Amino acid sequence: MIKFYNTLSKKIEEFKPVKKDFVRIYNCGPTVYDYDHLGHMWTYTMADIMRRVLEYNKLKVRQVMNITDVGHLTEGDVDKMLLASEREKKTPGQICEFYTKIFMENRRKLNILEPHIICKATEHIKEMQGLIKKLLDNGYAYKITDGIYYNVPKFKDYGKLSGNTVEKLEVGARIEVNPEKKHPADFALWIIAKPGHLMQWDSPWGRGYPGWHIECSAMSTKYLGDELDIHTGGEDNIFPHHENEIAQSEGATGKKFVRIWMHTRFLNIEGEKMSKSLGNFMRLQDIEKKGFEPLALRYLFLITHYRTPLNFTWEGLKAADTAWKRVLEFMDVLKNLKAKSGHNEEIDKLIEKSKEEFSEAINFDLDTPKAVAVMFDFMNKINKFIAEKKLDQKNVLESYNLVKDFDKVFAILKEEKETKAPKDVLKLLEDREKARKEKDWTKADEIREKIKKNGFMILDGDSGPRLKKI
Ligand code: AMP
Ligand code: ZN
Repeated sequence: MIKFYNTLSKKIEEFKPVKKDFVRIYNCGPTVYDYDHLGHMWTYTMADIMRRVLEYNKLKVRQVMNITDVGHLTEGDVDKMLLASEREKKTPGQICEFYTKIFMENRRKLNILEPHIICKATEHIKEMQGLIKKLLDNGYAYKITDGIYYNVPKFKDYGKLSGNTVEKLEVGARIEVNPEKKHPADFALWIIAKPGHLMQWDSPWGRGYPGWHIECSAMSTKYLGDELDIHTGGEDNIFPHHENEIAQSEGATGKKFVRIWMHTRFLNIEGEKMSKSLGNFMRLQDIEKKGFEPLALRYLFLITHYRTPLNFTWEGLKAADTAWKRVLEFMDVLKNLKAKSGHNEEIDKLIEKSKEEFSEAINFDLDTPKAVAVMFDFMNKINKFIAEKKLDQKNVLESYNLVKDFDKVFAILKEEKETKAPKDVLKLLEDREKARKEKDWTKADEIREKIKKNGFMILDGDSGPRLKKI
C-alpha cells in the first residue's frame, strides 16, 4: 500500500489512482526566464522519486510537466519573460529555448527521468481560451476593461487547499488597484495587451495574453483528463497558483480536479528561500565548479525528507558526497569480489528483510531518509561478512542486485559504461564465447581484437565476461 501526505486533506492518505494501475501526474514546471537553481532541482527530484516509487510498485505512470513561457507576472504586472527579453536583448522565444535547454540538461545530470509530455504555455493559447470561455459561460468569470477575471467568491470551495478563504482574503486585502474588479481576490484569466506588448494573441475578448494560472488547468486537462491523481510543486505554489488552478478546473468541470496534492518544502540558503527574485540562488554548475558531482547532490536530496525544509550548506553537501562515494565503493567491491566460501543463508534472510523495509519506507510518503538508512545498514552487514569471508559468489551477486534494485528509486549509481555496448559488439562477445567453448583460441583472440577496435575491452570474471568502454 502506498501512502502520501495530501496538502488538501492535511493527512497521510492511502493512494488510490482514479483508474486502477494507471497514474496521471502533473508537475508544475519552471518559469524559464532565468537559470534554474538548486531549489528547482530539489522540487523536481522529489517529483522524480515519487514517479519512480510508483513505477517500483509496478504502476503505469503518465507524467506531464509544463514550461511557463508566458503569463508569470511580477508584482507590477510585468511579464517576467518580457523583463528577461529586454535584459538580454533576445526574443521571448529565444529566452525560453535557452533556459529550458539548460534546465533539461541539469535534470538529466541528476538522473531525473524525462516526463512523458513536456508542454509549453505559448503553444496552448487555444486550450486556455477554450477554458476561459467555459468559465464565462457558466458564470465563474466576467469581463472588465483590462481583461477577463475569475470571480473568486463564486467558487464556494475557495481556500480549501491553502486555507486562504474569501473572508480571510478580504480582511488581508490591500487597497484594490483595479476598481472594476468585483472582489480583491479575483484574478486575471486573460489580460488585454497594451500597445507594443511583445507577447499577444487574438482572442474573442481582444488581443492579449493569459494570466499565470490558466495554463496549468488547460494543459493538465488536455493531456490527463479532468481528474488527476497527483499534482506537484514547491510549497510556494500552494497559494495562489494551486488554489487558483482548483478554482478554474473545478469551476469548469464540476469534478474533483486532483486527488493528491504534493508540495516540497523550500530549499533554503542561510535560512532564506533560494529564489531567482531574491538573487541568492546557486546553480548545479556552482557545485560542479567546486568539484562535486551532481549525483552527490541527489544523494543529499534523498537523505532529506521532501516535507522538511532543506538548508543547503557546503558542509552538508560534503558529508553527502562522502556517504554517496561509500555506496559507489561498496558496489565496486562487490563487482570485483571473488567470494569462495560457502553459501550464507543469513544473507538470504537479510536481503529479504531489507527489501521489505525499503518498500515500507518508500511507500510511506516517500521516506527516502529511512530507505537510505536501510541500504546503509545492509551495506554495513555485508561488509562485515566480506571481512569475515562468510559468503559465496551467489551471495555477492544477490547483494549487488539488491542495491541495484534500490537504485530504481534512488538513481544515484553512475551509468555502467560496460552495459552500454552496441548490439553488434554484444554479438561479437557472444561469438567469442562460442569460440572459447569450442576451444578455438585463435578465433576467440581475433574477436577480442575486433571488440577492442570497436572501443571495448573484455573483463572476464567468475560471473562471465563483461564489456567495458576503453
Ligand atoms: P518557478 O520557476 O519559480 O515557477 O519554480 C518552478 C518550481 O520550483 C515550482 O514548483 C517552485 O515551487 C519550485 N521552487 C522554486 N524555488 C524553490 C526552492 N527554493 N525550494 C523548493 N522548490 C522551489
Ligand atoms: Zn502550474
